[in-house]
Amino acid sequence: MDSVSNSRISWEEYALRIAEVAALRSEDVRKVGACALDYSNRVIGVAYNGLASGVNVDPSFWEDRDKRRPFMIHAEANLLSLFERNRCRLLACTLLPCSSCATLIAAHGIKKVVYKELYKRDQAALEIFKFYNIECLCVDNYNICHATTS
Ligand SMILES: [Zn+2]
Repeated sequence: MDSVSNSRISWEEYALRIAEVAALRSEDVRKVGACALDYSNRVIGVAYNGLASGVNVDPSFWEDRDKRRPFMIHAEANLLSLFERNRCRLLACTLLPCSSCATLIAAHGIKKVVYKELYKRDQAALEIFKFYNIECLCVDNYNICHATTS
């Protein structure tokens, strides 16, 4: 068998890898990226955490993480601002969404979320997704998404 034909990545991995590239654009030390696919698996949005577009701040703003935290817009919130409700089939995020973003995701009618890293400060999203019947998969080193390995 041709091993190349088995190397095609899943849509989950596709979206997650795009989210990882988006995260590189973040100005924060904690860089988070997110990507949304529609029901045809087309990318309908890519975002990262940061300040609202066009807002410029003094460099000292970035020195105190706790002080700037309330002003930072999470990658998922930025992402959801890019398309209408019920258009997104799959949301991929480099980090497990916080509880606030999890409720936004539920409100947006999204039914599947994949993430790479568990958010240690807030894991309520796992229960929120369960409550709203949103499938949530942790994709560690893309293992869960691969139909075949090796
Ligand atoms: Zn959040």
